[in-house]
Amino acid sequence: MRLPTTPPPWPGACLCGQVQFELMALPITFYACHCTDCQRRTGGAMRLVMWVDLSALRLTRGQAKLITFQISEHKQRRAMACAECDTRLWALPTDRPTMAGLFPGTLHNAREFEPVAHLWTRSAPSWVQIPPGAIVYETQPSRPGELARLWQEAIQNHAFNNETDPSV
Ligand SMILES: [Zn+2]
Ligand SMILES: [Zn+2]
Repeated sequence: MRLPTTPPPWPGACLCGQVQFELMALPITFYACHCTDCQRRTGGAMRLVMWVDLSALRLTRGQAKLITFQISEHKQRRAMACAECDTRLWALPTDRPTMAGLFPGTLHNAREFEPVAHLWTRSAPSWVQIPPGAIVYETQPSRPGELARLWQEAIQNHAFNNETDPSV
């Protein structure tokens, strides 16, 4: 699985560059969801879901604006966005106050991260190719926490470049 070779912090920004931030630690998990809700919500073929510790996000420039949507009587959606260019940076789930759902495409090195699993592949368009070796769910995992466990297993032997001992 692909992960950055340089250690954190990893910088990111909105489209216009007025809001800049850093991700200070590896994500909690990273996966792709091909369900029709995610397709509708993003207007794309899939949604990339990168859960991070909220404390691992640090604004380095500008001000992100909190935007809220009342989805239903009991469900609110909250996200931090750039007020100038409308780029969403991360979601703030109301039921997980210590976590954030980072929109991974806002990281400058987004291409260095590879999702550990693909969910709801039965709804994926036929032209989407799931990479060999990826963990695939036709729908979704039945056990909560499974995606975090798979990610933690995948990253446990990962070493960043500066962690290799030059004397060896
Ligand atoms: Zn912006
Ligand atoms: Zn989905």
